[in-house]
Amino acid sequence: MPMAVCFQPMSHYSSKPVSLGAMKAISIPRCAKPFVEGLNDGLIRYQMCSRCSTVQNLARYRCLACGANELGWKDSVGLGIVEAATEIRRASDPAFQAMIPYAILLVRMQEGFSLMAIEDSEAINPKQVMQIGDCVRLRARRWGDHMGLVAFRASP
Ligand SMILES: [Zn+2]
Repeated sequence: MPMAVCFQPMSHYSSKPVSLGAMKAISIPRCAKPFVEGLNDGLIRYQMCSRCSTVQNLARYRCLACGANELGWKDSVGLGIVEAATEIRRASDPAFQAMIPYAILLVRMQEGFSLMAIEDSEAINPKQVMQIGDCVRLRARRWGDHMGLVAFRASP
């Protein structure tokens, strides 16, 4: 069974309803497979250019800075800062229905790339909703067929 990744690039979203079958049919680009395989092993991986050391914000076939196709993978320490947060009140997939409402966070990782994560539902404290600037730790998690990241509050 093909694995779906929870956090697709924005270009995969549209205003039209998308069936669960259609969501699962979205294929993972070849250049992003090490990232997805890392999540399965509990690792958060990111690409870095072997020529100019530029960290790539999304998986690429070529470096955005110098154009080299020599992109290697490194393991992140998993720490970052919340850059944006939004509350989800309508799940895009039944796997997330029980969590509603939940927060999606855009996290700038310590190494310089960004990822999206779901605020850890077990750590949510109504008096301490995560905000922009909060220091978080990300951890890989599986929801049925989906693999994604959850965010925990971390010490600065
Ligand atoms: Zn480069």
